[in-house]
Parts: sequence; C-alpha cells; structure tokens
Amino acid sequence: MVCHSLLIELGEELVLVETGLGTDNIANPSRLGLMFRLFANPSLDPSETAVRQIEKLGFKASDVRHILITHLDIDHAGGLADFPDARIHIFEDEFRAAMRPVGFKERHRYNSSFWAHGPYWRCYSPQGEPWFGFDSVRQLEGLPPEILIIPMTGHTRGHSAIAVQGPRGWLLHAGDAYFHKDEMRPAGGRCSPGLDIFQTLIQINEPARKKNQARLRKLALDKAGEVRIFCAHDPDEYMSLAQPTEHSPSDGSSGVKMPVQPSSQGQTAMPKPKPDQKDQDLLEDWKKLNSDPPHIGDLKKHPQKGASGDKKPAN
Ligand SMILES: [Zn+2]
Repeated sequence: MVCHSLLIELGEELVLVETGLGTDNIANPSRLGLMFRLFANPSLDPSETAVRQIEKLGFKASDVRHILITHLDIDHAGGLADFPDARIHIFEDEFRAAMRPVGFKERHRYNSSFWAHGPYWRCYSPQGEPWFGFDSVRQLEGLPPEILIIPMTGHTRGHSAIAVQGPRGWLLHAGDAYFHKDEMRPAGGRCSPGLDIFQTLIQINEPARKKNQARLRKLALDKAGEVRIFCAHDPDEYMSLAQPTEHSPSDGSSGVKMPVQPSSQGQTAMPKPKPDQKDQDLLEDWKKLNSDPPHIGDLKKHPQKGASGDKKPAN
C-alpha cells in the first residue's frame, strides 16, 4: 500500500493534503504501535516522508502553511509535527473523535503524540452549497474556494474527503473511504476478502461507510469527465496520478505530487488568524472531560509570515 499525499502550490505557500508517516515515526517506530506495524508493515525510509520529498523539490517545511487531512489515523497524521507552521483544517467530528475518543476502536486508533507540538487547528462543520450532492465545507480559512472538505464518515467518526479543483477538473482525495480501485467499479466491485475484513474491523459506522462508497461509485460514473476520485492506499491509483510534472523528481516516484495549481484568482493571502469561538468551545469541552490536559496542548495560534504582533502563546 501507499500513503497518497497531494501538494498544492498556492502562490508563495504550499498546501499539503495528508501527511502520511513522519520523520519522528521513522526515528521512533514504537510510537506507531505494534498492531499498526504488524498489519501495515510500513516502510521506514525517511526519504519517503512528505517533508523529505518536499525538501527534495526545493521547498522548506515552513513553506507548508496549510494541511488538510481526511482523518487522524496514524498513517494520515503521523507527519503533522514535521510542519509546525501549518494550520490544520479538519472536519469538526474528526477533531472531537481524536480528542475525546469513545469506545475501544477510537481509544486505540489515535496517537496524541502526533499533535503534541500544539498545532493550530481549524475545525469546521458543513456549510455552504453542496458539492455534487455531497455536504461540503466551503471557504476554508485562508484558502481559495477551489479547496473543499467533503464529510464522508464511516471509516472514522469524522472522516472526510478533500476536493481540489485544478485546470483539468476536480480531484477528490477520498482517504480511507475505500481501499482498492475495484471498489469504485460501477457494478459495485469488491476488494480482496482480507482487505474487506480489515476495513470492517476498523470502521466506526458501517452503514455510513457503505452508503458513502455507493455515492462515490455513482459520482465516479456520472461525473467521469469532471471528477477524478482516488483513495489513500491504492498503489495503481497513485501511479496513474504520479506522472512527472514541472516540479516532480525525474523518476516520477514522488509520493507528493503537484498536479494542481489553483487559478490565480483563487490565490488568497494568508489572513492573520482570529480567535475562533468554535475552536475555543471545542477545547473547553475537551478540557472538562480531561482533567489532566496534556499532550494535545492548546489550540495555539502560530505566528504567520509577516503577521507582526501575532505571537505564539507560551505553554
Ligand atoms: Zn489509512
């Protein structure tokens, strides 16, 4: 399997969709947990992390100002700490699930050490016009309208897809809404029995997951010329999109590609972060239930480039 990330150039800034595993996971694989290492058997090569591949493209980690994430499982959020200057855009229900896990599966799937650096979270509930019939979050803070969060629950409580409109149509990163390209066949194809069992074991809401898979299949069929759908872990889907571009390594093997450059009118200057009541409410809610706050830190506001007077609060 692969961990499929997207890298988007937005003027001087970079937007990363999914981090995959990070350098700290490679240096300290015990933090990945025995079950994950046994089931996923991840490659622990630091050169495959998003941050190293971004540096190989000539950028700095601090150029990544935004991270969009489908959910906070290890293989999607493990690299958050490699980008401490980025604000993290996430569906509110997933933030709640990770910060206040309920039940065995949630308590064992999230690893709070991945956000121990206290990133700036920006949580959203669906708002604005639907996207091809799906609920959506439009107008993400500091991002153009061509980048949307599409709630797509089932795998986790707040799992989402990420939609990005580029010059060649929409890309929809479906995360772990499905795992194998055959699951998107119009007739309702299946993945291998082992992968099917795996998805069932780790899902939070089966009816929601199955319903969303059916909706994705219909979208793939009805909008084949407008929307290209791919999941996080299918190697064939990854290779079909990993074609060399102007900025790709010559071997085309990068897990971080740049197929999308939003139109110039969509480029948005990074606004200075403002206190957000919803974020504060979430944090207070979480603190009430966790008398010994911790590792997750606060919803810190990181100083932005050129935003004088906006300081990172002390711990
Ligand atoms: Zn995954």
